[in-house]
Formats: sequence, C-alpha cells, structure tokens
Amino acid sequence: MEKEITVLIVEDDKYISNFICMSLRQEGYRYLKTETGRGAISLCYANNPDVVILDLGLPDMDGIEVIENIRSQSDKPIIVVSARQEEGEKIRALDKGADDYVVKPFYMGELLARIRVAVRKSEKNSASMTQSFQKEYLKIDFVKRMVYIDDQEVHLTPIEYRLLVLLVSNRGKVLTHNQILNEIWGYGGGGDANSLRVFMATLRRKIEKDTTNPRFIITEVGVGYRFAEE
Ligand code: CA
Repeated sequence: MEKEITVLIVEDDKYISNFICMSLRQEGYRYLKTETGRGAISLCYANNPDVVILDLGLPDMDGIEVIENIRSQSDKPIIVVSARQEEGEKIRALDKGADDYVVKPFYMGELLARIRVAVRKSEKNSASMTQSFQKEYLKIDFVKRMVYIDDQEVHLTPIEYRLLVLLVSNRGKVLTHNQILNEIWGYGGGGDANSLRVFMATLRRKIEKDTTNPRFIITEVGVGYRFAEE
C-alpha cells in the first residue's frame, strides 16, 4: 500500500479551505486544517505533515513569519496560496523558503499538480544522490559533468553547467533571481538579473530545441525560473 500523504491547509477563508479539503479527500490525501498562523506552527510540530498549503493573509500573523518558523524546524514543501498578487510578496515568500506559489483565484487541478510535484521532490530528496539525470532528449552525467542532447555532447561553460544543475536539482520549484544569483555568484558576488538573463538565454540555446517555447527551463515572469517537472 502506498504511504499516506498528509497535507496541512492553513487558510482562514472557510469556503476556500473546504474546497481544498474536499478535493484532497477525493484524491486520497489525509489533511489537517487550521485558520491561524499559530495553529499552523503547532500542527507542524505535532504532526509533521508532508506538504503545507499556506495562505499569506492570516488573522493572527503574517504568512511570511509562518514560513520562517516552519523552515526553522522542517524542510517539508510549503506551497503558498495567496490573493496577494504583488511580485514582491511572491518573491519574499520564495526567498524565505516557500517552494511554490499559486495566486488566487486558482484552478484546483493546478494546485493538485503542484502538490504532486512537491511530494515527489521531497521523496527524491530523501533518496540517495543520483549519478545522472535524463528527461526526454536531455541527459546530464553528474560524475563526468557532461551534458548531452540526443546523445550528442553539448559544451557548457562552468557557469551554464552550474545553472543547469541548480535548476535540475530543484526541479518543479521556482527559484527566484536572488536565490539563483546567490547560489551561482555568492552574496555580493557581482551577478545581477541582467547577466543572469544573458546566461539563461545562452544555456537555453544549447539545450532547448525551441527557445521560444522552452521545454525544460520555464520563465516565471518577474520572479525567476523553474525546471519543468512534468
Ligand atoms: Ca486569508
């Protein structure tokens, strides 16, 4: 029998909360729910859920504080579901450690897809490090540090290779410009969003068959990039 997945829903809008709970039950998930940030933190401690669905506008505290608190005790996936459409909020939540972001109003199918990605990713993280990665015509050999398209070796510069590995090892998850810049160039390491865009463009030309409709590296407009999981 498959392991039961527990999802914690943190949402003070009862209509949305009930809607999410009902859909999760139909999909065979266990769920816990709370309307407050404090409730979220204590349920996280007590029940160690597999995925957290978090609204940012909560009655007792800011959802960003909830992310910080949960991240100090757990690396379980957090998917933010919020009506706040400002790019700044989205980026702040991701920078604090949220894994993904869905803006209200959303399609339930989309939220369920994000949950599946988050669960798979967290299961993969607990599995051992693999030596290679393959998705369709793209293959990466982590041991030889080589990249192949249709079995033909592609030459990547060291920065392009690190960018690709960073995205692949976080596949399904949005990485903000800041997170990528800090990982690749270090804090204050001279990288900026413009040079990142240039590196991303050359990387895409090397690995994507159609750069206008990329299969692997997806742009999250104004936020960052995501390696396609599905
Ligand atoms: Ca709310």
